[in-house]
Amino acid sequence: MTPDAQTQPVVDGVFADDPARLLGARCELCEQTSFPRLDGCPYCGSETITPVELSDHGALWGWTTVLHAPPGYLGSVPYGFGIVELPEGVRVVTRLAVPEDWWSFGQPMHLGTAEVGVDPDGVVLTTWEFSP
Ligand SMILES: [Zn+2]
Repeated sequence: MTPDAQTQPVVDGVFADDPARLLGARCELCEQTSFPRLDGCPYCGSETITPVELSDHGALWGWTTVLHAPPGYLGSVPYGFGIVELPEGVRVVTRLAVPEDWWSFGQPMHLGTAEVGVDPDGVVLTTWEFSP
């Protein structure tokens, strides 16, 4: 990416990229933390939620390798895909940064961002990913 290239998250409002943080919510009624951030609590239905930035680390809980590009995906394959459990107890479905033979259950993982393609207007699309 050139220094002047325009970047944009693949989905707005899900993560911040400097520093990388996932944007979740904490319910004031049942005290559960959730991701992604919704208008209400997915556990109890309360609309009294507080926006929170989630931890930038967690433990690998499950994984696989994506060999064929999903519809609309502009990046390269293969890539890792899995679930990382954060200290808040939230399990995040995520892209994984390194080949499958690096992964093991419970492995400490750290949050970062990745470029996943360029749209027709030349904007570089980014998403979150975890790496060991
Ligand atoms: Zn709740």
